[in-house]
Amino acid sequence: MTNLGPAHEWDRSLQELTLGSHLRLEDLVDRDALGEVVRSFHALFGIALRLFSAEGALLAESGAEQAICRYLASLSKGRIACRQTVDRARRAEIPDAGEVVHTCFTGAEYRIYPIMYDGRRLGKAVLGPFLPAEVTAVPASLLEADAAIDPMQARLLLPRMPRAKAETMTLIADHLKRTLDLILFSGHKTLLTTQMHLASVRESYRELSDKTNKLQEAYDRLKELDRLKSDFLGTVSHELRTPLTSIIGYSEMLAGGMVGDLAPEQREFIQIIHEKGNQLLALILDLLDLSKLESGTILIRKGSVAIGTVLEDVIQTLAPKAKARSVRLDCDVAADLPEVVGDKDRIRQVFLNLCDNAIKFSFEGSVVRICAGVSSPEDVGEDVGFVVLEPSRRTVEVRVLDQGIGIPLAERERIFDPFYQVDSGSTRQYEGSGLGLSIVKRLVDAHGGRVRVFANVPQGSVFSVELPIGDKRRQA
Ligand code: ADP
Repeated sequence: MTNLGPAHEWDRSLQELTLGSHLRLEDLVDRDALGEVVRSFHALFGIALRLFSAEGALLAESGAEQAICRYLASLSKGRIACRQTVDRARRAEIPDAGEVVHTCFTGAEYRIYPIMYDGRRLGKAVLGPFLPAEVTAVPASLLEADAAIDPMQARLLLPRMPRAKAETMTLIADHLKRTLDLILFSGHKTLLTTQMHLASVRESYRELSDKTNKLQEAYDRLKELDRLKSDFLGTVSHELRTPLTSIIGYSEMLAGGMVGDLAPEQREFIQIIHEKGNQLLALILDLLDLSKLESGTILIRKGSVAIGTVLEDVIQTLAPKAKARSVRLDCDVAADLPEVVGDKDRIRQVFLNLCDNAIKFSFEGSVVRICAGVSSPEDVGEDVGFVVLEPSRRTVEVRVLDQGIGIPLAERERIFDPFYQVDSGSTRQYEGSGLGLSIVKRLVDAHGGRVRVFANVPQGSVFSVELPIGDKRRQA
């Protein structure tokens, strides 16, 4: 972004421009514009014009040197007399309102006017030299300036100087004053507008920088909190796991009659302890996985994985659960499916989670279908099917389709957030922790794949997972 300079400097200059005394002629009107004014003035009236800044610097001038002046400057005393005239004219005190008439030893005159704007003196304008109408002969002061002056030359050259009546000069001076007023006014307006615009840009920039800094601080803080949360989750889960493994182990031994026979009621209770212990262990393992995935410390072994074998294993594992809920599991794996790159156990975990959800959220007697084929990342859409595109972009896509309760459109992004559940009320009928899909998403991301969710037709959900195909097959 443009560096607009320190704010205090800037505010000061704006104040000076609007109120203070530091307004400068050269800031209001650029030099070229002043030069143009002066030149056109000379072309119009034939009289030389010079504009000076308040500090005395010449800003613009027009009109060639007069022939008589050139002649006098070629003589040593004449040159000195010329210089003295110029010096006196320069030093002349000019009142704020009015003019100073400066007479040269040649009889020529200069009129000097202050350049005023808004009560401030910005410089001066010098009109001349010109010969007043009443000067008809070569004045004695000219001939006396240098003994070497040739009166004939003087008589020849002096009349070449522009001549003007006093009233005409007053009119010309008025015109000059009005022209300068107009130029200064519009210059001041432009300058103020520019400065105001810069001021507002600077202010917006400052506000934006403040907000960016605050956002950055908030972001850093959140990141730090997130890291602390992951560490905490990791530590707590780890500490819970060890005693829980003992609880499960001892309940197994009790149920197995290692310390004597149990009454039916005792056996039932031990069974519940064992079952709930396993549920708790699964939750803790999920928490550990999530914290490792979030902190990036999870180990993903990359190898070639045959998706068909993984899916068979998943279906075998979940068959009892599906049966208990009267849900039919169908599997359709395309023949000659290429192997994907990844960690077999982690990929199994992904599909175990998705299929477990599909069964959990299905209605009794419905079907959960798992199909696998070759697809491409561009194949976005809700249609179920596989499109084979050019080999280098291919992925293996697995879809898990159920005919269950479905997921409202507005919830489909959020279900991948940790602990998020569509129905999180205390009366919810489905058990679960809300961690499964967040682990799925992170694992699929870690494999360079992607997971999406669509609605199934006429009801239910479709989860799609795409995983990159191994190099061997890509080059084929
Ligand atoms: P949970 O342990 O609750 O299943 P998940 O992270 O696996 O946690 O899923 C998050 C939420 O997404 C679930 O609570 C449920 O609301 C919704 N969900 C996941 N899979 C399905 C599905 N197949 N059908 C309907 N809703 C689902």
